[in-house]
Amino acid sequence: MVQNPYISIVIPVHNEQEVLEELYARLTGALDKLGKPYEIILTNDGSTDQSGQMLRDLHHRRPDQIRVIEFNGNYGQHMAIMAGFERVRGQIVITMDADLQNPPEEIGKLVAAMEAGHDVVNTYRENRQDSWWRLQVSKWHNKIRAWMMPKLKMQDEGCMLRAYSRNIVDLMASTGESSTFIPALALTYASRPTEVGVAHAERSAGTSSYNFYKLIRYNFDLVTGFSVFPLQVFTMIGLLISMCSFIFVTFLMLRRLIVGPEVEGVFTLFAIMFFLLGIVLFGLGVVGEYVGRIYQEVRKRPRFVVRHVLERPAAAPAADFNPAAVAEAG
Ligand code: UDP
Ligand code: MG
Repeated sequence: MVQNPYISIVIPVHNEQEVLEELYARLTGALDKLGKPYEIILTNDGSTDQSGQMLRDLHHRRPDQIRVIEFNGNYGQHMAIMAGFERVRGQIVITMDADLQNPPEEIGKLVAAMEAGHDVVNTYRENRQDSWWRLQVSKWHNKIRAWMMPKLKMQDEGCMLRAYSRNIVDLMASTGESSTFIPALALTYASRPTEVGVAHAERSAGTSSYNFYKLIRYNFDLVTGFSVFPLQVFTMIGLLISMCSFIFVTFLMLRRLIVGPEVEGVFTLFAIMFFLLGIVLFGLGVVGEYVGRIYQEVRKRPRFVVRHVLERPAAAPAADFNPAAVAEAG
């Protein structure tokens, strides 16, 4: 039996064999220093390198503190965090990347902010260490997002070192959404969020799992998950075309009455076509508004599949008690 922890650290891992040893050393070092009971939940998100084996070793080194969730494939960073969220036992839940770009030594700062009464602690990266193009993409992306989704108040959405209270985490885990953006989801439930600056380092080893295509897909998750803005733009364009072509049609009708028909009425036909096209686009936009909402509701696929969990049972009979996992942990 394991004493219930106070702090839960949740880390997604995808092909991070080069950094896991250092992560273990620095993270446990920083947490031991804090002197509060903690657990570290690492989700192996379908790694194809030695990460899976290394995570098992880490669990066996500190079976009471290190829990490992093994996915049967690659479901993405946010789902890997969600799987951790479904199992946390602590009161303060902190997410971070495995690659040590967010220094574990900053965790104390987040814990202090949580203890000051905040329920979500967001972070922004001070002196960010990333490639030039990555910084530009990030900068524009943050600007557009702030414009499209003014309710999501965060300076820097890319920094995953964040802290959430247990009730916010339970809420997030219960949503069942399969494409989500955790920091944005947390903010929709937060009542007392805050932001603190944290240090940022270059990836200590290994390579980023994100290429340009994946980054774009992530942004679609963020935008469609938290805004119907793209659908509304479509509606607005349709509306605009309808209005312009209405003016055009009126003009051509008057012209026809006063000046007479233009060459074989071709332009009258065009005007009518544009008018109808505008209405069709407008109608499609309205339908899209509904379909988009329905789509979000009805996709009830399992959002990830856990192959097995390496962990010790919790002190009190907890809701997340998993007999299979106990057998595995031996
Ligand atoms: N990650 C994951 N699944 C993925 C991609 C990434 O679990 O499909 C993890 C990865 O191991 C790391 C974190 O998510 O802990 C952030 O990934 P990465 O460092 O590659 O992204 P970047 O820092 O370049 O945004
Ligand atoms: Mg990284």
